[in-house]
Amino acid sequence: MKTRKLEIACPECGSPEVFYSCTPNCCMNHVCSACGTTFEPETSVTGGFVTGVIPPDPLPDSTDPTAECAKCNSTAVYVMEDGGLVCAKCGAKLTMDLTEIAPG
Ligand SMILES: [Zn+2]
Ligand SMILES: [Zn+2]
Repeated sequence: MKTRKLEIACPECGSPEVFYSCTPNCCMNHVCSACGTTFEPETSVTGGFVTGVIPPDPLPDSTDPTAECAKCNSTAVYVMEDGGLVCAKCGAKLTMDLTEIAPG
């Protein structure tokens, strides 16, 4: 199962120019470079597992959008070919919501 990097559109202006501005051991704060809105993505488990998940190549940069697996807390959360999210570490299928939205 091939995957691609996580993409998050700004919940305020829809811009894809969203950056992860913190580190996984602190918080999941993201910022939109177009309008300055900040938010945190939060995943939940949809049920079901995927085996043989291949991480994207190249791997995301540290400033690329990042989400934490609700199951195992790994940040290896990627997008599958069908558009669904999956954790490459534990294989859990995930969905993502955006929380803590603070318009810039
Ligand atoms: Zn924005
Ligand atoms: Zn996981």
